[in-house]
Amino acid sequence: MIYLFVMLLQGAISTLYSAIFTLISRRLKFTIRNILFEKILIQDVAYYDGTESGRLLSRLTNDLDLMMSPIQSSLSSLLSNLLILVGGLIMCFLKSYKLSMLAFVCIGPISYCWEQYAIWSKGLAREMLSYWAEGNSIASQALMHIRTVKAFGCEESVMEKYSSTNQMALNCGIRDAWGNGITSALTGYLDLGTGVLILYFGGLLVYRGEMSVGDLVTYQLFWNMMNNSYQNLQGLITSFTRSAAGAEKVFSLFDSIPDIDPSKGNDIDPTTLSMGSDGGGGQIEIQNISFYYQMRPDNIVLEDFSLTIPAGKTIALVGRSGGGKSTIIQLLLRFYDPKQGCILLDGKPYPSMKVHQLRRLFGVVTQETELFALTVEENIAYGLNKDNGEYKFEDVVEAAKNAYAHEFICEMKDGYQTRIGERGNRISGGQRQRIAIARVFLRKPKIILLDEATSALDENSQEAVHNALSNLIKESNATVVMVAHRLSTVKNADSICVIDKGQVLEQGTHDELVNKNGIYASMVSKNAQKKGDMGRAG
Ligand code: ADP
Repeated sequence: MIYLFVMLLQGAISTLYSAIFTLISRRLKFTIRNILFEKILIQDVAYYDGTESGRLLSRLTNDLDLMMSPIQSSLSSLLSNLLILVGGLIMCFLKSYKLSMLAFVCIGPISYCWEQYAIWSKGLAREMLSYWAEGNSIASQALMHIRTVKAFGCEESVMEKYSSTNQMALNCGIRDAWGNGITSALTGYLDLGTGVLILYFGGLLVYRGEMSVGDLVTYQLFWNMMNNSYQNLQGLITSFTRSAAGAEKVFSLFDSIPDIDPSKGNDIDPTTLSMGSDGGGGQIEIQNISFYYQMRPDNIVLEDFSLTIPAGKTIALVGRSGGGKSTIIQLLLRFYDPKQGCILLDGKPYPSMKVHQLRRLFGVVTQETELFALTVEENIAYGLNKDNGEYKFEDVVEAAKNAYAHEFICEMKDGYQTRIGERGNRISGGQRQRIAIARVFLRKPKIILLDEATSALDENSQEAVHNALSNLIKESNATVVMVAHRLSTVKNADSICVIDKGQVLEQGTHDELVNKNGIYASMVSKNAQKKGDMGRAG
């Protein structure tokens, strides 16, 4: 009866014990995965310039899985193995300290073999993770640009690259399996040898009358029990050492603190957050900034650059490609900090304000309109919460109407609830841009940034987008900074700024600059000539 009771109790305890360990390891993985994703999200834009997204995804999957594998698989047996090891050890020494000393001398080489294997295996695991990350990167790039891959008929070459990195990872796995097998065989023989030695010297002790046969048999039972636990713990240590390869990558991300720290800076007064409020303001002063991208430090993009953008005015940045116009937009959004100089908003330096709140003052329409695999409504209201009353459906419709998007949205089967596919690939370029403009209408930002918003579109779409943008500029009393290739779109700007090699070459209204007969005037006449040529060709 006692035996039955003890067995039932043991069953219950071990079930509870393993359930607790499974729960702990799952919760740990859940927590680490969340923290890790948060860490990825808060990195500076410069960090993403240097790290491919596929590799970052590897941190959340392969690296984390490897790091967690020993915790999930064998940590639950740690305590029982430790207890058996300590108990067995005490019993062995109590039974015969002489035999125990001998046996423990033999354990040294076994430990050494496993330690060497663990170090070697950790290197292999590191190599394998880097191949997996490369494979992830190849796959995510191919999926992101699937149309280009197909248009150039590159499926086979992409597949080849993917499978060759996979093969490399597999080779690491095969080498590791062989290493593990050989180490197991070697240590198995050493273990067997230890057993034989125990039997031989134990036999001698029995022969000399220093030990009874019963004690020797009991000793062997304890030894085997302890040895089993020791082997299990050794396996656990080896798998922890391997998992350190994943942990190194995971924790390097944990430790990386972004230069633009989201927690720093003061709160921005909420009344100044939207153009609809009386907060006024929106003046930007760029003061003597110098800037280069971290990935290309030799390419100085802006040098001692200064520009004042008065509140409520529209400034157009024009000039040759590569002159630094988009970089100014990125600096205004504080995606990067200038290496020298500073940017002020309404007299306050950028770093003195919380970066998230600062960015919420802006509304951006870029050439590469970034839409999500969500419905039209969710895309227009991206970042706003309906449940918190941050917007109503009617606001979305109104924004779409202002952006000349309502009509085509209504023509779609599910209207505002139509899902527009990844990166909005189920609608045209012009429609994507108008949705992006509707997004800005809904947000009512204090400052609007338009980056070459119409250059990639055909004439008809350009007109629709152009109308939507003009409406946006007219309706809002926001400060507008626009980068445009089409000179016709910048004509009505309050001030036009000609930028080249990171310097302001000319600034003034369209008429002033044309009368000045400088670079802008020559750009205008070249443009007119090009149009004339096209007209004649037509
Ligand atoms: P523009 O908008 O006037 O065409 P950009 O501001 O895009 O010019 O680019 C200015 C310079 O900075 C160019 O030499 C360009 O190659 C470089 N550049 C742009 N973006 C990056 C980046 N993320 N990393 C490194 N260099 C960049």
